Amino acid sequence: MTFRNPIRLTRGVPTSDGAGVRLTRLMGGGTDLPSIDPFLMLDHFDSPEAQDYIAGFPDHPHRGFETVTYMLEGRLRHRDNHGHEGVVDSGGVQWMTAGRGLVHSEMPEQENGRMRGFQLWVNLPARLKMQAPAYQEHPQAAMPVEMRDGGVRVTVIAGATAQGARGPVSTAATDARYFDVTLPAGGSFEEPLAEGLAGFVVVYEGAVRFADGRGIDAVGLAELGAGDTARFAAANGPARALFIAGRPLREPVFWHGPFVMNTRDEILQAIADYQDGKF
Ligand code: MN
Repeated sequence: MTFRNPIRLTRGVPTSDGAGVRLTRLMGGGTDLPSIDPFLMLDHFDSPEAQDYIAGFPDHPHRGFETVTYMLEGRLRHRDNHGHEGVVDSGGVQWMTAGRGLVHSEMPEQENGRMRGFQLWVNLPARLKMQAPAYQEHPQAAMPVEMRDGGVRVTVIAGATAQGARGPVSTAATDARYFDVTLPAGGSFEEPLAEGLAGFVVVYEGAVRFADGRGIDAVGLAELGAGDTARFAAANGPARALFIAGRPLREPVFWHGPFVMNTRDEILQAIADYQDGKF
């Protein structure tokens, strides 16, 4: 067994997006933080102040990839131009495959209280970038919680654990796993992760330490290096962290705002199609 230790640790950068939502960008997206193929970007939002989130994300397009919204606290309403609408509630997930394109809004379904969660962008392979848009939406109750030794809890959102719990979201294109791991003081999480799969850990409460002794505290991201097993442990009390992994696409990435394609021509086509109202 060889443990996957961090090859990069970051606390991200503060930014804002949409109509002025305050975020911490932990990966990609116009920062100097590299993407982790097949994952393009990761944002974390967390504020008790409505002024930080109330403006939301009014109508905007996407093409060529997937957006994954995981709410820890609060409610977010989404609505697209094909008549699809719903609310992602605390503990729920929306795994949206934008495919060939849609225009949607993502707006807070609350005027006060804490709003906290993540949005991850997952790339699609060339053969699926122009597929029809699709949604996988699940409340917290639909996600299995795997209990492990020492009181460790693993909420399985996408993919399956080595011990067999399978989340409600399936992602054949990238074989993505998205687990929310709760560690009591002294607890540790260990999971086989085949060579060839990319993985990273996002600690969002407390602090964790990896097999090599290095650690990171909330909120921070650790990109995992080579090995066959991911491992991290709570450091200095309880901790919560996301464990996210998937199969790299190893394709050219042409990224222009909300469009992520393989070539410059495809980006120009996306802009033209959007301007022509073809989304
Ligand atoms: Mn969006």
